[in-house]
Amino acid sequence: MVLSIYDTFSRAPKEISSGNGVVSMYCCGPTVYRDAHVGNLRTFLLSDLIARTIRLSGLNVDMVQNITDVGHMSDDFQEDKMLEQSEKEKIDPFEIARKYEERFHHDLSNLNIIPAQKYPRASESIELMHEMISALINKGAAYVAEDQCVYFDAQSFEGYGQISGNRLDSLKPGHKYEFVEDGAKKFHADWALWKTAGNRKEMIWDSPWGPGFPGWHIECSAMSLKFLDSHVNVHVGGIDLRFPHHENERAQSNSITGTESVDLWVHGEHLLFEGRKMSKSAGNVVLLNDVIAKGFDPLALRLCFLENRYRSQMDLSWQSIASAHDTIKRWRSKIAGWGLSNSIKIDSTILAFLENDLETPRVITYLRSVEKDSNLTDAEKSNAFLFADQVLGLHLSRPEKVKALSEELNLLLAERENARAAKNWALSDELRIRLESAGLEISDSAAGQSWSWR
Ligand code: AMP
Ligand code: ZN
Repeated sequence: MVLSIYDTFSRAPKEISSGNGVVSMYCCGPTVYRDAHVGNLRTFLLSDLIARTIRLSGLNVDMVQNITDVGHMSDDFQEDKMLEQSEKEKIDPFEIARKYEERFHHDLSNLNIIPAQKYPRASESIELMHEMISALINKGAAYVAEDQCVYFDAQSFEGYGQISGNRLDSLKPGHKYEFVEDGAKKFHADWALWKTAGNRKEMIWDSPWGPGFPGWHIECSAMSLKFLDSHVNVHVGGIDLRFPHHENERAQSNSITGTESVDLWVHGEHLLFEGRKMSKSAGNVVLLNDVIAKGFDPLALRLCFLENRYRSQMDLSWQSIASAHDTIKRWRSKIAGWGLSNSIKIDSTILAFLENDLETPRVITYLRSVEKDSNLTDAEKSNAFLFADQVLGLHLSRPEKVKALSEELNLLLAERENARAAKNWALSDELRIRLESAGLEISDSAAGQSWSWR
C-alpha cells in the first residue's frame, strides 16, 4: 500500500507521488514577528507526521519550509507584521525576525519535529522573486500598474479558485484580503507581487520596478519552485491559507511552469483552546513554553495532536495535556519493563492506519488495546509501540528520568506508612493529599505503599 492523503484540490484522498523515490514537500512556514502558538505548531507537526509516514513507507523526503520575514500584511492595519512588531518592541525588524526564527526552531526541536532540509528566508530570496515576477510579466500574467506596483492578472489564469471553491466572478470587490493600497489594479481580485516602497523606509529593496518589497504569496511560489526543482509533490499549510494564499500561489506557479505545479494540497484544521479560537484579544494564546512551564513534557502536546484527526478542528485543554503527559510516562515505564529490541518489525495494522490518510487516533486506540491485551507477549507489545513511535515521535523508548525525593517528602512517605500500619486512615489520607500536591502519585496495594512522580 502507498500513503494516501486527502487532497483539498480534488476533494478526495490521493496517493503520494514522488520523483525517483524522493517526495518533495513544501510547508508554509511561520511569520516570524512573534512566538508560534500551539495552533501554529499543530500545523507544523502535520508536515512532520506526513514526512515520517512517507519514510516509514520506504520513500525519502526533501522538505522545504519558508521563513516569512517580510511582506505578510496584518488584516487589521494593512501594515507589514514585521514592521508593526518592530515599532512595538523598538527593535530592528531583522533582529525581531532572527529572534523569533530561532525560537521557532527551538519549539520544533522540543516537539521532536525532524528538521526540513531547507528553511529559506523571504528576505534572502528577493532576487528569485524578481526573476519570477519578470517572467510572469513576460508571459502576460502580470502587469506594472500606474502606482509602480506589479500585480498578478487574476483573469489570465483559468481555473483560479479551484482549491478553495471561490470563483473569480463571485469574489466581491473589497473582500477582507485585499490590501487597501492595491488601488491601481485593473481587476479587484488581482493581487500585488511587488509593492512600491512609498513612505516605507525599512525592509525595502531595489527592483526593476523601483524600490519596494514583495507580496506574501509570491515568496512561496518562488521558493518552492526554486528549491524543489520546479515541482512539489506535497504542499502543506493550515486551512486558513487555502484562500487566498494557496490559490494565488497556484496561479503564479502554474503560470510559470505551464503545468500543475503541486500534486497534492494538504490542509490541517485549526486548533481551538478551551472551546475558543486562540487570539490575543480573547487572552487564550498558549505557547509551547507555557506547557513546559507547567511541568508537562512538551511531547504531551504532540500526543494530544495525534489523538485527533488532522482534518478535524480540535479543542485543546490543560486537562487533555495533563492526561497525555500521564499516558506518555506510563507507556515509557511499561515499555522499559517489556524490554526494548534493536530490530523493530513492521506492524501492518499500524502502517495501514497511517497510510490511510494519517489515521493517528486509530493508531493510539490500537496501542491502548495492545497495552491491555493479555494474549500478547511483552516483546510483541513493545514492538507495536516502538514501530508506531517512528511516526508518533514520543520518545517512548526513553527511560523515565526519576527525580530524587527531597528529605521532606521521604519523611512524609515514612509517616504515612506508619499511619497505615497503625490503621490511622484519616492521617494516611491527609498525608496522601500533601504528597500528591507535591507532584507524587501514591498507590496502595497488599504489598504496601508505592509512589511515582506524576
Ligand atoms: P503564521 O505564522 O501566522 O503565518 O502561521 C503559520 C501556520 O500556522 C500557517 O500554516 C497557518 O495556517 C497555521 N495556523 C494559524 N493559526 C492556526 C490554528 N489556530 N490552528 C492550526 N494552525 C494554525
Ligand atoms: Zn506559503
